[in-house]
Amino acid sequence: TITPESYQSDSISPSPDPVAEERPGPVQIVRANESDGIFQLDAAALEKILLQDHVKDLNLVVVSVAGAFRKGKSFLLDFMLRYMYNQHSDAWIGGDHEPLIGFKWRGGCERETTGIQVWSDVFVVEKPDGNKVVAVLLVDTQGAFDSQSTIKDSATVFALSTMTSSVQVYNLSHNIQEDDLQHLQLFTEYGRLAMEETESKPFQSLMFLIRDWSSPYEYDYGLKGGQAFLQKRLQVKNCQHEELQNVRKHIDSCFSKISCFLLPHPGLKVATNPKFDGRLKDIEDDFKTQLAELMPVLLAPDQLVEKQIGGSKITCKDLVEYFKAYIKIYEG
Ligand code: GDP
Ligand code: MG
Repeated sequence: TITPESYQSDSISPSPDPVAEERPGPVQIVRANESDGIFQLDAAALEKILLQDHVKDLNLVVVSVAGAFRKGKSFLLDFMLRYMYNQHSDAWIGGDHEPLIGFKWRGGCERETTGIQVWSDVFVVEKPDGNKVVAVLLVDTQGAFDSQSTIKDSATVFALSTMTSSVQVYNLSHNIQEDDLQHLQLFTEYGRLAMEETESKPFQSLMFLIRDWSSPYEYDYGLKGGQAFLQKRLQVKNCQHEELQNVRKHIDSCFSKISCFLLPHPGLKVATNPKFDGRLKDIEDDFKTQLAELMPVLLAPDQLVEKQIGGSKITCKDLVEYFKAYIKIYEG
């Protein structure tokens, strides 16, 4: 079902094999230099993807997933890839025995390079409104979030990916903790400072995606339960400490749209079995059911949100220039 057949799961850039090079795969476009922590953009790699003739002048949709590592971001993105490669099929989710490939997920608990990867294939989608055609770019991020020094790097990754995406999925485990909100405030402040002041809110759509949601009796899985939970969690109340109020007001002032989706636990094989390779038969039904609800919320043609900067829609070509400008802010 999944086409083009068996895309490769390792980075395509260093491949000496000319055939393998043409196969779609993840491409590291931003990385933090390990010795000095300076962020670098691989402009050539990004240009190769976004300046392809068939996409360069199209408006684009950028869907990014960010959050602490080892929380299933890349795993989720690989289902997004299946959805995008099989846009016109109800069987997009794949067969029971197909390993899940694409962005590299799992790999024990060793630290990954902090940075940003994009998928080398840019998807072209026809929107229902006037048959407008848009390009869709999928973005994976890696950040650590576990110590003061890594939080600064993660803030850069989060800021850069929020500035360059139209939909940022903030991937969290179990709940929205107060420090998840504080991190979000820090990261968005980091991004907002770098952008020109405008009347409109600086960023577009933010989705809190809560993994391993364990209180479906209180708030049901999915978007509706998520929205109700979020409303409660982001509520500003006079009786709250001022700091709690400010975090909430700040987040609200940054994004034009904020949503929340509650995903169930995918089952023990996914969480703990070292031999698990992503095949559907090892994943809990509840999880698959909700995954099938989530994908169209993010990626169905009528849901796609085009990237805007300063109030205007931008093209793939424009995004390359914005990346070059934004990385300068964090390079030094
Ligand atoms: P990333 O570092 O956030 O990109 O995380 P990965 O996608 O590499 O996944 C890390 C581990 O979490 C893998 O072993 C997955 O099998 C597992 N995993 C994926 N999704 C979920 C989830 O929703 N809940 C739990 N508990 N584990 C998950
Ligand atoms: Mg990952």
